[in-house]
Amino acid sequence: MTGKTFYITTPIYYVNDVPHIGHAYTTVACDAISRYKRLCGFDVCFLTGTDEHGQKIEQAADKRGIKPKELADQVVQRFAGLWETLNISNDKFIRTTDELHKKAVRKIFNKMKENGDIYIDHYEGWYCTPCETYLTETQLLDGNCCPSCRRETSKLKEPSYFFRMSKYGDALLKHIQDNKDFIKPESRRNEIISFIKDGLRDLSVSRVTFKWGIPVPDDEEHVIYVWIDALTNYISALGYGEDDEDFTKFWPADYHVVGKDILRFHTVYWPTMLLSAGIELPKSVFAHGWWTVEGQKMSKSLGNAIDPTWLVEKFGVDAIRYFLLREVPFGLDGDFSFKALIHRINGDLANDLGNLLNRTMGMVNRYFDGTVPAYSEAGAEDKTIEETAERVFKDVDEHITNMAFNKALASMWEFVSSLNKYIDETAPWALAKDEAKKERLGSVLYTVLDGIRMVSLLLYPFMPTTAEKIREQLGTGKELVKTSTQDLRKIRTLESGHKLGEAEQLFPRIDEKDMLEFLKQEIDSEKKDDEGQPVVEEIDFSHFEKMTLKAVKVLECEKIDKSDKLLKLQIDMGSEKRQVVSGIAKSYKPEELVGKTLVLVANLKPAKLMGTLSEGMILSATSDGKNHRVLELPDSVEPGTDIK
Ligand SMILES: [Zn+2]
Repeated sequence: MTGKTFYITTPIYYVNDVPHIGHAYTTVACDAISRYKRLCGFDVCFLTGTDEHGQKIEQAADKRGIKPKELADQVVQRFAGLWETLNISNDKFIRTTDELHKKAVRKIFNKMKENGDIYIDHYEGWYCTPCETYLTETQLLDGNCCPSCRRETSKLKEPSYFFRMSKYGDALLKHIQDNKDFIKPESRRNEIISFIKDGLRDLSVSRVTFKWGIPVPDDEEHVIYVWIDALTNYISALGYGEDDEDFTKFWPADYHVVGKDILRFHTVYWPTMLLSAGIELPKSVFAHGWWTVEGQKMSKSLGNAIDPTWLVEKFGVDAIRYFLLREVPFGLDGDFSFKALIHRINGDLANDLGNLLNRTMGMVNRYFDGTVPAYSEAGAEDKTIEETAERVFKDVDEHITNMAFNKALASMWEFVSSLNKYIDETAPWALAKDEAKKERLGSVLYTVLDGIRMVSLLLYPFMPTTAEKIREQLGTGKELVKTSTQDLRKIRTLESGHKLGEAEQLFPRIDEKDMLEFLKQEIDSEKKDDEGQPVVEEIDFSHFEKMTLKAVKVLECEKIDKSDKLLKLQIDMGSEKRQVVSGIAKSYKPEELVGKTLVLVANLKPAKLMGTLSEGMILSATSDGKNHRVLELPDSVEPGTDIK
């Protein structure tokens, strides 16, 4: 090992969130670059984790009647489980409730204090409790409502510790200007520069409004502000303040990967904290874009925040990993659509890659009885493959290192295409007709097999399982050996003389029309909100208005022959009398209902149930569809009265 290290982090995810493709995206990207760096011989530390403190967790736990830590212990599994499903190779998983983390937070807070950067004062502002955010007057909507959740905020004044962030504005600006890679991509960098140039204010870094957090050292009335707590995870996970071995080895981080919405916290709050505590700054913070789903912003009310586990069940883990990183440039916003996903699977994966492997395996089986032939006779066409391989490996390395995953994958597919083209040009099926060309035929097929081996190396960071499957079919053993960037691109290292493994289709083609129809049905039946509860669809008032509800008095009631569920009711609706059939026979004896005043949906289309006419529907409460309690109105309500 050469001692090269690579440290990369995802943000820590808010533990009570339900994971969606945005979370999956960030984490898969970090996984791909981590796997690539490991392959190239780097000593990698890949960190992800969960943010578990704050008022929202405290409130959510209260609602369920459990302790915040118990809630966190339950819901953390949503993330930990998803990372397993997505084949994420993180080396560490930090939870902000870990003792090691709390120790590190107290230590950095004390360091900042020792350096004279923490003082006590009062904080006053408009506070949104659900969002745990203070808002300025200008940010508020009408009625002092919160711009993000639209709920009413309240004016709050509380004692608070402050961090002298203003002191570090100039130093931070200089650092950003001297280090071109500190904030990526470029457009985001300019945003942050102008934010700092407007002048940094001191930052309120403690709260007394809730308890669930890390207490301020020597003043337990206060808990440390969630961002100070959360950001420290990047060093606490390395044992900062406890056991410095990993900290010394991996810090400063090569990359903090974040969504663009939290870039400011990572490029202003975090580095100024570090400057104050005398800790080196991370090398680079990369802000990626957001996903929309089928052209719409993901949101609770639309219920379109797609569950990545569900996606993996439908399409397979590698297809999802591929799509997320192939479809859009990492720094930009992208749209998730099933159509686009199916096109990628059918085009890139089943057609280009799958066919390359299939047709090659087929020919080696046919012409060489499944044994890898030797490379013994060069041809003019081979040069193109050599040159393409050389260039693609160089490009892929550069693109992955710059987080241009879509370009890296496009380069790989250039190689896949050149191999397909090579087969067409060398026409092995024609060579096979001439016994004198057997050597050349073997060399051609060897070149393609070796090319596929090289493709499997490049694919591995993105589609680890597919890379393994390809290697198994090539008969090379599925395990990849850690190597160096240089050795990785050596061509013709595939051994010959061994038997190929069993041929298997990598990505079966998907019938687009059938699949889209199937998905639509599944999605309609499985809509969930942010807390995992089934979504109740909202309707306009105009829809509700169309329904006519009336008070009705039961005149007569009897069982319907041959049915143990249905009762036949004769009812008085004021202006008219009607007959209604109701499925409540298991909950009521007929005589129990006579004389009661009930609620009727009066404008329902008449229907026949077990041959009996029913003109309307009686409303009842039921939790299981079997046991019913009818909605009863007081006797004083006249039959025919409207219910609004
Ligand atoms: Zn809010």
